[in-house]
Amino acid sequence: MSETVKYLLSEDRIPKAWYNLAADLPVPLPPPLHPGTGQPIGPDDLAPIFPKAVIEQEVSTERWIDIPEPVREVYRLWRPAPLIRARGLEKALDTPAKIYFKYEGVSPAGSHKPNSAVPQAFFNKQEGITRLATETGAGQWGSSLAFAGSLFGIEVEIYMVKVSYQQKPYRRALMETYGATCIASPSNLTQAGRDALAKDPNSNGSLGIAISEAVEVAASRADTNYALGSVLNHVCLHQTIIGEEAMLQMEMAGDQPDIVIACTGGGSNFAGLAFPYIREKIKGSKVRVIGVEPASCPTLTRGRYAYDYGDTGKLTPMVKMHTLGSTFMPPGSHSGGLRYHGMAPMVSHVKELGLMEARSYHQNECFAAAVRFARAEGIVPAPESSHAIKGAIEEALRCKLEGRSETILFNLSGHGHFDMQAYTDHFGGKLIDPAFNQSALDTALSELPNIG
Ligand SMILES: *Cc1c(COP(=O)(O)O)cnc(C)c1O
Repeated sequence: MSETVKYLLSEDRIPKAWYNLAADLPVPLPPPLHPGTGQPIGPDDLAPIFPKAVIEQEVSTERWIDIPEPVREVYRLWRPAPLIRARGLEKALDTPAKIYFKYEGVSPAGSHKPNSAVPQAFFNKQEGITRLATETGAGQWGSSLAFAGSLFGIEVEIYMVKVSYQQKPYRRALMETYGATCIASPSNLTQAGRDALAKDPNSNGSLGIAISEAVEVAASRADTNYALGSVLNHVCLHQTIIGEEAMLQMEMAGDQPDIVIACTGGGSNFAGLAFPYIREKIKGSKVRVIGVEPASCPTLTRGRYAYDYGDTGKLTPMVKMHTLGSTFMPPGSHSGGLRYHGMAPMVSHVKELGLMEARSYHQNECFAAAVRFARAEGIVPAPESSHAIKGAIEEALRCKLEGRSETILFNLSGHGHFDMQAYTDHFGGKLIDPAFNQSALDTALSELPNIG
């Protein structure tokens, strides 16, 4: 029996196309609506802030979309990402389950996010854009776009959620190393930021507010476009390179996953690994697909499937998604990348169609899983990714109880080298798992736009 640990593909096997799940959905995605008129939006409505190529991808129903050669060239810096058999973890859990993970922490920014940052920077450059404005939560997306901007000669301005800006000075330093400008959000540089500060001068910020700030800047300057790190269809599309590679690697391993697991913030790393498997599920495969989210921001498990704004300032189109309400303020947690009130419309749709399951865990149990993983596999996971690990461990322990040798594949979306304060806080017993504030959720849901 082979004792292989890493399944590695050569660079010439980097997929040549992204996979678009929209081509195979049994029911089409509900359209995005204009925030002012409530009518379906057209490509022209998005043109002030996105390049044409990206808008085309956003609405495309083509099954395969070619990855431009210059993007594949950049992908070579870290792709194909390894698929690793977690033999150490299997042993530590004494489970008959086989556990594999796709490791996206090998990218320059340390997560899956450059998979979309690089093509987004490329398509903007191609259409003559010289500046990009964006938001970042924990700093992963900001670092990724800063990195991509540096390669294509694009200036990058990043609105970073204030609580993370203060907690993660080294993420900020990384963005600055790549040449980007990083601003604590809410800031007084934008109307959206000034409004948020007027409401609460001590605001910790949120992704919803930071998105409003970046969109406002992009909409008001001709040389500046906006780039989003998750949620939108084109971001999910770019991330499918993860699952397409994983399929080739599982083939090398001579295995097929029975269960595919990823954490869900805005939904992009989940989409990336899972959508190619959901394609197979639509064709009849029995694979289970599970999204894991924080109990403090439980979009898929407690949110409502409804039209909502993507941001707090109500500047973005309304999309149908699982949402906690755009005014919902998730409590501060160390999984900044999972603190978003909504979920990718495509992931939400997949959930509604019964093609995936969702569950939530508290942060301390996720950190405990991350520590167990680190001690068995060596890699220190990002706090966000620890949710996927917790999900995988729970499934592996169920397999043990039931004496079943199922194959589990999860996405290790990033490493936690910039998140060590979170680990210190966990070890010091300083992380709290607050009871979920149902009345805050009820209030936020009562403020959802009224769409028939
Ligand atoms: C941003 C981030 C996430 C959450 O975003 P998704 O769009 O849901 O993938 C998860 N893991 C890591 C490491 C991240 O940086």
